[in-house]
Amino acid sequence: MAARVVVLGSGPAGLTAALYLSRANLAPTVYEGLQPGGQLTITTEVDNFPGFPEGIMGPELMERMKKQCERFDTAFSWDEVVGADLTERPFRLQTSGGEEVLADALVIATGASARWLNLENEQRLMGRGVSACATCDGFFFQNVPVAMVGGGDSALEEALFLTKFASKVIVIHRRDELRASKIMRDRAFANPKVEFLWDSVVVDVLGKDTVDGVRVRNVKQDEEHDLEVGGLFLAIGHDPNAKVFAGQLDMDDNGYILTEPGSSRTSVEGVFAAGDVQDHTYKQAITAAGSGCMAALDAERWLEAQGLE
Ligand code: NAP
Repeated sequence: MAARVVVLGSGPAGLTAALYLSRANLAPTVYEGLQPGGQLTITTEVDNFPGFPEGIMGPELMERMKKQCERFDTAFSWDEVVGADLTERPFRLQTSGGEEVLADALVIATGASARWLNLENEQRLMGRGVSACATCDGFFFQNVPVAMVGGGDSALEEALFLTKFASKVIVIHRRDELRASKIMRDRAFANPKVEFLWDSVVVDVLGKDTVDGVRVRNVKQDEEHDLEVGGLFLAIGHDPNAKVFAGQLDMDDNGYILTEPGSSRTSVEGVFAAGDVQDHTYKQAITAAGSGCMAALDAERWLEAQGLE
């Protein structure tokens, strides 16, 4: 298969890029990847995406974005891209189905995946009290105690955000020393609603249909007890989905693709990156969508400059 432009990923960044590219008559093909629709498909209600005054369920929002792309000339493939050669143009991509795809321009919007504890009940109660996004879901936890797992900047930032809603936030950290920066530590220690449980790991999530507690093990004393909480938040890091491009595109130490400030251009001409795969700061649906738009405009202009429009 040969295409003028290929989009990898079908979250808000990928679908917004596809929408703009298709409306520019570039007939993009979107490789949807392992989680079609991206991270929003594992959240429940989205209240902070502009244009939906009553809120909208994450999966429905993504379904609507996809339909909007289909109104124009966007092709979709369920296949996942598992190999890439960006050393010459057209770029060569290999899919898990064994197809070779040639593309003059590439928009990478493969997102980042939140890390989970991988406990059975954590996965079962995901979206029903278990969340890896306090900004998305914090509002639903009014006046109930919640737990936050992690000891980095994200855990503390999100714990502080949660204090706006929750009656208290118990930060559960596996060591007795935080990884987070001093300023975040100071803020968290100064907030009377934030409590810390040190040297502790969550070993089970309790509750039938929603979370009503977590079982915690103190790793030093090797003893377990239950905490009554209405929600479990995780902030134990994200992994950008960019391994397939390792060694070919410039990345930061955590594997996020580097883009030129103020643009979506990567270190390889003709390759553009958008959304969480290049953003560990904002990580919102609306910022991902905005950067998908940037990538589409950058790709369109670049193709035009190459005489490939
Ligand atoms: P991070 O710095 O890698 O911290 C992850 C935390 O989760 C660590 O405390 C780690 O424990 C813990 N953890 C990892 N795996 C775990 C597991 N399986 N079970 C229990 N705990 C586990 O990730 P992050 O907080 O998402 O931050 C990522 C980057 O973004 C960092 O560079 C951070 O500084 C930056 N950031 C900055 C800000 C800000 O400046 N306001 C806000 C957010 C993020 P250990 O400490 O024991 O390893």
